[in-house]
Amino acid sequence: MQTTVIRIREHGGPEVMQLETVALAAPGPGEVLLRQLAIGVNFIDTYHRSGLYPLPLPAGLGQEACGIVEAIGPGVSEFRPGDRVAYAGGATGAYATHRLMPAERLVLVPIGVPDEVAAATLLRGMTAQYLLKRTFPVKRGQTILFHAAAGGVGQIACQWARALGATVIGTAGSPDKLKLAARWCDHVINYSEADWVAEVRELTRGQGVPVVYDGVGAATFAGSLDCLAPRGMLVSFGNASGAVPAFNPALLAQKGSLFFTRPTLGHYIATRQELLDTANDYFHIYEHGNVRAEVKQRFALSQAAEAHRALEARHTTASTVLIPD
Ligand code: NDP
Repeated sequence: MQTTVIRIREHGGPEVMQLETVALAAPGPGEVLLRQLAIGVNFIDTYHRSGLYPLPLPAGLGQEACGIVEAIGPGVSEFRPGDRVAYAGGATGAYATHRLMPAERLVLVPIGVPDEVAAATLLRGMTAQYLLKRTFPVKRGQTILFHAAAGGVGQIACQWARALGATVIGTAGSPDKLKLAARWCDHVINYSEADWVAEVRELTRGQGVPVVYDGVGAATFAGSLDCLAPRGMLVSFGNASGAVPAFNPALLAQKGSLFFTRPTLGHYIATRQELLDTANDYFHIYEHGNVRAEVKQRFALSQAAEAHRALEARHTTASTVLIPD
């Protein structure tokens, strides 16, 4: 059979993404053939495309999707044709109408989770899960700072942190985004204009916060350190504005014996059990209504370059999907 995919033959801007039709083999041992219903667009896809995180070329793009199992390979017992499944992280190549996936990286999607939500938010939901529960476990009564609060990870994580009993300060870069983020944050700050570090200090009566979750990177790194209380933790989990520059660890001592970590989802869902526990924890909180994860932008698969342009130009809020056309 054939599949239509987005491929890159060189790293670069959105224009390097090409739509191609290629042959697809029957599923091999442990594999499943998926007909994809919707595909998530994540910031990491832009890093893979640009070469910030280089891929061996030519390469497919995309980390997550929701689809229907069309056929199973030898040895697959957990899934059957007709199952609705999703995956996120680890196996680049999600920008496709059909694809083969290792069965061990799939999860069943509960009935209460729509296709687009599973496709566009499983990666972000699992990221929120490990950041808030396992990297720096948020406790009731704490005040936390979350950057890019109107974004995909931000929307889910800020609601989830509040469900855990935290007070959430969220940042965003424009008045419209601040208005949106105010739906799920206790306080919002425009980090493009205001002296946002001073605002965080004021909101915490000069104490600082025990944790900053920072997916923005270069632009916020220094300010994030200045928002922390002594022995607080900077969780640097992304580079939307560019990579964090190299720094002398003595800086952490000077700023209050701080902790710094640079986690990535793959290490928190490395085993089948971790993947299932993390995904199911996210699906559970979504289905119970404590986290509302929204798909705000939709593009045809053939328009994937437009989706990247919107994401990189800071024009998106919440999550974004591609629909196979
Ligand atoms: P978002 O929807 O949050 O989009 C990124 C947002 O970052 C933008 O909308 C923008 O919001 C903000 N931003 C600030 N400066 C810039 C800039 N110079 N260029 C572009 N955007 C900027 O994306 P995702 O939800 O997909 O991901 C959020 C972050 O989390 C990314 O850095 C991503 O790589 C990271 N991530 C890390 C994971 C991990 O395990 N380590 C897993 C998943 C995501 P505003 O306009 O309000 O400033």
